[in-house]
Amino acid sequence: MKIFYTDTFPIPLPEKHSFPKSKYDLLRRRIMESQIAQHVDLKIPRPATYEEIIRAHDPTYIHRLQNGELSAKEIRRVGLPWSAEIVRRARYSAGGTIEACRAALEEGIAVNLGGGTHHAFSDHGQGYCWLNDSVIAARAIQAEGLAGSILIVDCDVHQGNGTAAIVNNDPTIFTFSIHGKNNFPYQKEKSDLDIALENGADNAVYLKALEKGLKESMDTAGADLVIYLAGADPYKDDRFGRLALTKNGLVERDRLVFQSCLEAGLPTAVTMAGGYARDVQDTVDIHFQTVLAALKSKT
Ligand SMILES: [Zn+2]
Repeated sequence: MKIFYTDTFPIPLPEKHSFPKSKYDLLRRRIMESQIAQHVDLKIPRPATYEEIIRAHDPTYIHRLQNGELSAKEIRRVGLPWSAEIVRRARYSAGGTIEACRAALEEGIAVNLGGGTHHAFSDHGQGYCWLNDSVIAARAIQAEGLAGSILIVDCDVHQGNGTAAIVNNDPTIFTFSIHGKNNFPYQKEKSDLDIALENGADNAVYLKALEKGLKESMDTAGADLVIYLAGADPYKDDRFGRLALTKNGLVERDRLVFQSCLEAGLPTAVTMAGGYARDVQDTVDIHFQTVLAALKSKT
């Protein structure tokens, strides 16, 4: 199974910043030191090109992002300090999702150990997200003629508002978001299918809702490819989550998604999205079990 990583490109942050940048590097190391190391092919992707990025984003925004011309207010909205390095990392991370899609179409499933930056809108960033890798990748794959219709299954605990807004009038990309009703973003956009869960929703409530949502979105989307955002933040001990899933519940979630895709004959590209557990090792455990479940679904 191909796994793309970009943690070798730095994210310059002030000390004690709440963004858990260490999880990416810890996750890759966990994979390399585990029993599955020999069954995976870890690769650095190529970065998303300007042409690919502007299929999802306003060219003026991209020009200003690239050249450090965003206002202080626009940067505050993202919550990360702007730097040329951080933009470079975002371009590689979006490239990882493109390459994971391509590999999934060839081999059934592939993983990007990054991506899932679903709060980025066409003309602005938000909530730790500069570029919307899901839409960039979906449209890159469509432009290459590799898939017509794409289903985005967003299981990050926060609504995929940027994704929903960008593809609002695009019938070829179906967005399904299952998230906490009372979580950021407080002003939600309209996905093709939204399932908003109350605070404290547990494994049973979540899995039942997810099963229903997967069935409905697969029946409606007529997709050729799935992009799955496997956020670790529905976890009960997540700082920003508000839901109450356990690690077992989250691995059941992953299995349910992979099983449904397999049964529908849909290639699946997996991205990591959020994860802010009080102990970063819990976030890494959750993402690692997603990788294990992906590999198992392939064999
Ligand atoms: Zn999130």
